[in-house]
Formats: sequence, structure tokens, C-alpha cells
Amino acid sequence: MAKIGILNLQGAVSEHYDLTKKAVKNLGVNVKVESVRYAEDVEVCDGIILSGGESTVIGKLICKRGIDKVIKDNNIPVFGTCAGMVLLSKKTDFNQPLLGLMDISVKRNNYGRQKDSFEQPIDILGQKFLGVFIRAPALESYDETKEDIKVLSEYDGDIVAIQQGCNIAISFHPELTEDTLIHEYFINEVLNKIN
Ligand code: GLN
Repeated sequence: MAKIGILNLQGAVSEHYDLTKKAVKNLGVNVKVESVRYAEDVEVCDGIILSGGESTVIGKLICKRGIDKVIKDNNIPVFGTCAGMVLLSKKTDFNQPLLGLMDISVKRNNYGRQKDSFEQPIDILGQKFLGVFIRAPALESYDETKEDIKVLSEYDGDIVAIQQGCNIAISFHPELTEDTLIHEYFINEVLNKIN
């Protein structure tokens, strides 16, 4: 049975867990969803979800626990939201440990502080989706020479969702909505990869 791990180090983990379970149910697929904390738990997953939170804290723990190595060695697809997008990037405007799986660079806290949080309907995967932006990063640039990169959504001139291979990075927080669209998309990408 395929397994999706929700990396449980810091941040909005339980919301992702619940929405991923709901997405699995909607799809009617045989996928186990598990909260994971250590490299040996991550290693046996077919896909990993990185929640929002503090990317510096999460990044330090990822490296300290060797989670970055098992993700890279096993080529495990990662879906990152907000801080998760920061961690998937190769470069940010901070000096911080990163997973660096995607050829993108991001600016942290692009939309201001917590009090500047906002909700905005965006277009993604052919549908409308409520983007919840909380101290969200914006994509500064991506390597346009890479053929496996696909922009999934833009808002106000900025790219807010992007995919490279099976890795997906988005600026906003789907786990704070009830909408399983993007989670279902990621699960399908993972299942297509392993089947
Ligand atoms: N600004 C945070 C960071 O870069 C992310 C905020 C969030 O995930 N809501 O770590």
C-alpha cells in the first residue's frame, strides 16, 4: 500500500493530516497517511507533505535528522506549502538549511507579517481555489531551462504554485480550507510515479 507521510516537526501538521485523509477518501484509493518524524519513517514513504510553519526551524531539524538525505536518496516526491515551499527551494533571501529539491528561488514573508494575512481566490488546476496567505513566500525566479517545471498558479503577477517533476510548492495554505483539490492532485502524482 502506498504511504504519504506528513512531516511532523513543527507547524500546521494536523490540518494537513486531516485534509490528506479526506483526499484519500474522496479518491477512493488505497493509501495510508501517517505522521512522520524521523528519517527511518520518511524513508518508507512514497510521498511527503511539508506543512507551513517556521522554515528555519523545520529545515534545521530536517538536516539534523538526516531526513534531507533519505528524501534525496529515495527520490521521494514532496508537496510543500508556505514554509514547505521555502524548504523546497534552492535559494532564499535568508541563510538557512534547505531541502533544495526544486530549481526555484523564493523570497520569504513576501506579503508582510502575520497581521497582513489575507485570503484570495486563485485559479489552479482548472478550478477556483481559496488561497490563504500567511507570511507567505513568493517565488522570485525559477530555472526556465528545466523542462520538468510547470507553473500551476499565479496571483497578482507572482507565481504562487509551481511543480517540478513530482514535487509541488505552493505559497498558500490549502490545509486551512476544506478543499482537497491540490492534495488529491499530489496523491495522484505519487501514485502515477510508483505504479
Ligand atoms: N514565513 C514563514 C517562513 O518562511 C512561513 C510562514 C508560514 O508557513 N505560514 O518560515
